[in-house]
Amino acid sequence: MQNIAIFGATGSIGGSTLDVLSHYPDRYRVFALTANSRVRDLVALCEKHHPQIALIADCSKKADLASGLSERGLSDIEVWAGEDDLVKLAALPEVDVAVLAIVGAAGLAPTFSAARAGKRLLLANKESVVCGGALLMQSIKEHGAELLPVDSEHNAIFQCLASSNDHDRSQARIILTASGGPFRNRFDLSDVTPEDAVAHPTWQMGRKISVDSATLMNKGLEVIEASWLFGFPPD
Ligand code: NDP
Repeated sequence: MQNIAIFGATGSIGGSTLDVLSHYPDRYRVFALTANSRVRDLVALCEKHHPQIALIADCSKKADLASGLSERGLSDIEVWAGEDDLVKLAALPEVDVAVLAIVGAAGLAPTFSAARAGKRLLLANKESVVCGGALLMQSIKEHGAELLPVDSEHNAIFQCLASSNDHDRSQARIILTASGGPFRNRFDLSDVTPEDAVAHPTWQMGRKISVDSATLMNKGLEVIEASWLFGFPPD
């Protein structure tokens, strides 16, 4: 049985992860769930998955989380709060796998903590690779951690390269494609709204990555992410 800690459990990737885990209760245990400020959503997830630890990053919501859990008879779940606890959780000996699905640079500290503790990292938080790629890759190597990319393109590349030999790898070129999501084939963006930008025609994702996809910023982040993960300099 592997203990899984999900950082950013209330988000889009967090939800998909929990969905997958729910199919394998004999192999994976939901050990810890974290959120930033959405206490109600976190309590609902705790009710369903019964982790040992529930963590809210916004310390001002700690009492709300404790009372929400207590009202549902879940007082046995430990309540943690704040960035220091995020870092502590990522390094906890009981944690076998850290799913890093916090959005933005707030994911950096727990990601580094998991790397330094030699964990298996399931990394969705591309911003931490973009912000700290060199140090992160070094830390993973030094501490015997393992990084599995969750970002879909990077996961696909990871699987292709894993089955290739050194020669094929040295010849490989990585090409990332982009569509522009809701703004595909639109050349004049002067009157678009934030709501237009998050209305991706194919994927239901968090708001930041949806806007990043619509503006193509996401593809820039992905190129940087790929260059660190796979050791290819961007063209
Ligand atoms: P969401 O916005 O759906 O979820 C973000 C999660 O992070 C929530 O649990 C949120 O908590 C938590 N969070 C936000 N700010 C903080 C903070 N300051 N401290 C601690 N926790 C915080 O994001 P996504 O799931 O869409 O994306 C997560 C990551 O995965 C991003 O880096 C994104 O680029 C990457 N990714 C996402 C994909 C997708 O399909 N969604 C695909 C590929 C990569 P709360 O709910 O309380 O606000």
